[in-house]
Amino acid sequence: MNQAIFRFYEELNDFLPWSRQKKDFKVLFKGRQSVKDMIEALGVPHTEVDLILVHGKSVEFEHILQDGDRISVYPVFESLNIRDVTHLRDMPLRKTRFIADINIGNIVKYMRALGLDVYFDPSLSPREIIGISKQAQRIILTKSRKLLKYRQVSHGIFIRHGRPIEQIKRIIDLLSLRAHIHPFSRCLTCNTPLVQVAKQQVEDRIPPKVRIWCEEYACCEHCSKVYWKGSHFTRIKEVLDEILGPGSWEQERSFFP
Ligand SMILES: [Zn+2]
Repeated sequence: MNQAIFRFYEELNDFLPWSRQKKDFKVLFKGRQSVKDMIEALGVPHTEVDLILVHGKSVEFEHILQDGDRISVYPVFESLNIRDVTHLRDMPLRKTRFIADINIGNIVKYMRALGLDVYFDPSLSPREIIGISKQAQRIILTKSRKLLKYRQVSHGIFIRHGRPIEQIKRIIDLLSLRAHIHPFSRCLTCNTPLVQVAKQQVEDRIPPKVRIWCEEYACCEHCSKVYWKGSHFTRIKEVLDEILGPGSWEQERSFFP
């Protein structure tokens, strides 16, 4: 039997049993094993890992473990003051787009309300989610470690337990998304960017009571849903206030494109 010493840093410890958190621990192994397979066997999805050091030197996922290896594993987006390291994936995707799996459907509406592009179709299988993620360069959002362990998955975020507001805040912080936030610019139902429309264009689709007081409307050209700043808008705005900080976004951004 060969042995390697592992240590996981920061939030990667969430995936480990208590006895292995934040400390060196020994792993026994036989034959040829890649560091990636071993990390996943220990319970950590590879999409959560950004940097692996073996004896202080960065290695790729394919590194074959050697007897006596000392391995440090760091999470994605953890800022590290180490030069010449091999981060395990290419630069962040140029356009930040997401695909959500069925288990986190509850945060999709609020992410779209922030203007973030989130594809969501509850009928998709894990294989289909991965396919769309690859093809359309969408970051997978999921509560399933199993899904993130597929070899083909390159960009994914494991959504931890907690309130939707905290979950969305974490995504925004991890990816530094604040500059990409454009509240109420996207259809909550189908994810299409909204367009501003004149009242006359949508008059037949607005309740008469609303027609009296409201002059500003946006419309989804895909599903034809009409949006205005009614009570639904106010409720969602309260949630966005909690995510972004009250009053921090109203002045600087328009509600509609
Ligand atoms: Zn729509």
